[in-house]
This record gives sequence, C-alpha cells and structure tokens, in this order.
Amino acid sequence: MTQTASRPGAGAQQVPLPLDVEAIRADFPILSRTVRDGKRLVYLDSGATSQKPRQVLDAERWFYENVNAAPHRGAHQLAEEATGAYEEARAKIGAFIGAPENEIVFTRNTTEAINLVAYALSNAATAKEPEFRAHAVGQGDEIVVTEMEHHANLIPWQQLCERTGATLRWLGLTDDGRLDLSDLATVVNERTRLVAVTQQSNILGTINPIEKIVARAREVGALVLVDGAQSVPHQPIDVTALGADFLVFSGHKMLGPTGVGVLWGRYEVLDALPPFLTGGSMIEVVRMEGSTFMPPPQRFEAGIPMTAQVVGLGAAVDYLNALGMDKVEAHERALTGYALEKLAGIPGVTVIGPPDTVARGGAVSFTVEGIHPHDVGQVLDDLGIAVRVGHHCAWPVVRRYGVPATTRATFYVHTGYDDVDALADGIRAAQKFFGTV
Ligand code: PLP
Repeated sequence: MTQTASRPGAGAQQVPLPLDVEAIRADFPILSRTVRDGKRLVYLDSGATSQKPRQVLDAERWFYENVNAAPHRGAHQLAEEATGAYEEARAKIGAFIGAPENEIVFTRNTTEAINLVAYALSNAATAKEPEFRAHAVGQGDEIVVTEMEHHANLIPWQQLCERTGATLRWLGLTDDGRLDLSDLATVVNERTRLVAVTQQSNILGTINPIEKIVARAREVGALVLVDGAQSVPHQPIDVTALGADFLVFSGHKMLGPTGVGVLWGRYEVLDALPPFLTGGSMIEVVRMEGSTFMPPPQRFEAGIPMTAQVVGLGAAVDYLNALGMDKVEAHERALTGYALEKLAGIPGVTVIGPPDTVARGGAVSFTVEGIHPHDVGQVLDDLGIAVRVGHHCAWPVVRRYGVPATTRATFYVHTGYDDVDALADGIRAAQKFFGTV
C-alpha cells in the first residue's frame, strides 16, 4: 500500500509515493523493533548508514553456511565456489553503475577508496616502474576539492599535499548551499592533477553539476574523482555518462553490509597506478629482490577480501534493482519536497541547504532557533526518531554557514510521510519543551 492520505491541517503536499513503503518495511527486521519505551523506530539516519533488508542478511548467511572459503586461493570446491560468488557480485555491482567488472575494486568503504587513490598518486612519484609514474603528484601540482566535502574527501587530499609538496585548492559555496563555480576556470588550471568532488552533499543535500567540473578538468588534463557515497545509493548512476575517472561509494549506505566499499576507476587510469596496500593476492611474481603486480582490479585488493560482505552488497544491488533506481530517486524527491514544506511551516526552523528539490537529494539539515542541535536530537530520540546531529564530518560547511552544528534527517526506500510527520511533530515538541514558542 502506498502512503497518500493527507493529515488534516498538515499543509504540505503529499503526492503518491512511487515505492510501497509498507511492503518495503516488512523486509527490514530492525524496523519492527521499538525504541525508548515501546516507541516505533523512525529511522531518519540512512545517510550515516542504511538499515539492511532480510535479503542482504540472508545472502551473507548463505555464503557462510554454504561456500565460505578464501577466494582466488586453493583448488578445492569451496574455494572455487567462493571465488565464483565473489566475482559474480563484482560483475553485478559493476553493472549497477554501468561499469565492466575489471574496473571495480573492493575496498573497506568510501574512505578507504579515496585513500587508495591518494596514496597511489604519491606512490607514483617514487615508483621504480616508469609505467606507474604517469599520474605522479609532486611539488608545483595542485589538487582541487570543494568546501562541501565530507572529511573523507578532504583529509586524504590534505595529507597527499603534505606528503608531496602539492597545493590544495578548493571551490567555495554560495549562500543557498550550491557550489560556487564562478572561479572554476582559475581554480582548476594547468597545474591541477586531480579534482575531487562529491556528487551529493551529505549535509546540504545539494547535487553538484559534475559534468561542468569534468568538462573543465578535461580541458586541463586533470583527473576527476567523484565521491558517490550519497549519490550511488539514491539515484541511477552510469559511469560512462558521468565522465569522471573514479567513483567511490560505500556498501553500508546502500542497504549492504558494513566493511565493503567500491572504487570504480577507468581501466587505463587504474592500470597506470601503483598499488596502495601490498601483500598476498595482488602479486604476479615474487622474488626476494622484488615483486611484480597483477593488473587491476587485483592489484588493489591485497589480502583475503571481505567476501561475504561483497556477496551481501550484490544482494543489496539486486534489491535496489528490483525497486528501480528511478523510483528510489523519485520517492526520495517526493519526501524531500514534503519535508522542506513541512519544516518551512515551523517558525524558527532554518534549512541549511537548497530550499527546494531542484538538484537536491534527501538530506535535510536544519537548525531550530534557540535550541542546540544536540538538544533537538535528544528530544527526537526520546520520541523514537533517529536523526544525526553535529557537523556531519563536513566541518567547513557548518563553519561556512555560521552554525555550530545542524540536525539532519536523511531518507531512504522505507521512509514514508508518517516518518516526516513524526519529525515535524518532534521539532514542535522540542520547541515546547525548551519554551522557544
Ligand atoms: N563521503 C560522503 C559524502 C559521505 O556522506 C560519507 C559518509 O557519511 C563518506 C564520504 C565516508 O563514507 P564511509 O564512512 O562509509 O567511508
């Protein structure tokens, strides 16, 4: 059953939701538990980590109960089947973003995927193999980020610059929560080696015009890394259309298990990079004097991989494909529009980020006049509503907008209008509790 009924006096428009929220909720065991003395769990923190449907939990259990073995090692049947399950999931996850399987590298999460690229670029500067030096970063080079990056897409680049003597530059933000591209042509210039940009801000919800950044980067021969941690789970993505060189994302934010993330890279770029982590499974020939490395993706997957988690992520991709990513995106857009209208109707509430659903995803950050975000979060938690409070690992953003922190609600496939109504009622309850209305 889709949720369409309007609450009397609610004001905000409830268009029919594309996803069947009740049916989807039934797939998520955790959503049937209660919190804080028997209250329904209203989970509005999928941007931090998503809940897992039974299908993903079953896939991991199936792996451990039936085929558990180390993939790419051993000649026994289990090893063969584990390798098959791992590689089948790689192909499926690649197809989800329109990429061939040899361009999919499994990492622990988005953070590790970005660090992999950053370390590969500095390792390139000292690589003894000439074929690994093409993308070396050194003194005089520049790395460009934006002021809206999650720390995961900022600190690794700061550190790369410290290791290599390169300079970090960044694109600023407009007052309404968008990237300020007015100085794109000067910030991204002939010295730029790589531009790292988020596709969707985890704090503002802004969806960035990646095509403009890619176009400028191409003019100056710079690589582009897109942080898809908040976009891949929520909208259809095709890496060919995206036009970048790298796309990184985390399984745990897209209904999959923790402990698995993805680095997609254009094959010729991956192939020109030296490894980050080294050890077993990524070597071609090992001698005491030195070793040679496998081609991608194995070159970047040292050690026994997170096999069950990869299989679980494959099941998450099946689940999302069955829902349809177009519908997932439309579902969240409807909820976001509704939430923005509802919050706009509460005096004292200010949304930090774009005020409408144009080029905007389902992360709604706000402040409530006279109440610290942590206190807002506390009152909501008492009501069974899980939101995130703080700087959301994007400290420069809260600084840019002159607030100490925000309260953030994020939506996903099981979110319904009732969840957004609960949030709005909870904010009013906080205002009453702290006597600000
Ligand atoms: N980038 C963005 C935009 C994020 O929202 C997050 C996590 O919230 C990350 C990167 C880091 O993801 P992870 O902690 O899974 O590595």
